[in-house]
Amino acid sequence: MLELCMLASGSSGNAVYVATEKTKILIDAGLSGKRLAAALAAIGSDAAALDALLLSHDHLDHTSGAGVLARRYRLPVYATQPTWHAAEKQLGHIPSGRCHVFTAGGKISFPDLEVETFPVPHDAAGPVGFIFRHGGRAAALVTDLGYVTPYILDCLQNLDGIIIEANHDEEMLLNGSYPWLLKKRISGKTGHLSNVMAAECLKKIISPRTKQVVLAHLSAENNLPSLALDTICSRLEDAGITPGKQLTVRVAARHEPSCRLCFT
Ligand SMILES: [Zn+2]
Ligand SMILES: [Zn+2]
Repeated sequence: MLELCMLASGSSGNAVYVATEKTKILIDAGLSGKRLAAALAAIGSDAAALDALLLSHDHLDHTSGAGVLARRYRLPVYATQPTWHAAEKQLGHIPSGRCHVFTAGGKISFPDLEVETFPVPHDAAGPVGFIFRHGGRAAALVTDLGYVTPYILDCLQNLDGIIIEANHDEEMLLNGSYPWLLKKRISGKTGHLSNVMAAECLKKIISPRTKQVVLAHLSAENNLPSLALDTICSRLEDAGITPGKQLTVRVAARHEPSCRLCFT
């Protein structure tokens, strides 16, 4: 069994729980240690049972609770060298024996879970996306990226489940209240994926084997869950992919656990 569950999603905090029979890990810890423990308890898991914490990049919405969680539960923490460097102050002291470095593009092996990583274009230090493999099943987590590179497209083939960023609606961002520089940053090549960009990526990676898609990291200001769903599902339908029949497409909740994906 390969299980994934969104614990929180968006610029107010991100964390994803990934579990197999023998391995339980957390990807990112962008909310307080207390809230993370409560979210894990709410899905029937336990922070004390975690085997590791992996960080996608150094932005606070992915790391704000990481130091506390790692110390409280004596968790090994995995991050790229640039992420360690950029997040050093904010993470605080973590004993060196529990600090692990992986390279973007490298693999992390747990007893019954393989985690592949790939670099993503984002304005952070050494940011990565993830593919989780267990028992012939595979699911990906890819958020916080300005665009989908050909290499990422290659990495995202033949997946059972896909968690992908659908950060903003391009018109809402353009016409919204954000300062021009911030709009430029978000829509730029190292910013965040729009609904349309997520749809275009999904069209190229959904295969007959893909059963579950989760839209993640939605902007509170520049997107709406219904708009993200409508935009993406209508584009998939135009491409001959029928959400609801062939696969489910859901939107991750911002503040509470949601969207459990389970592959047996
Ligand atoms: Zn983020
Ligand atoms: Zn980020």
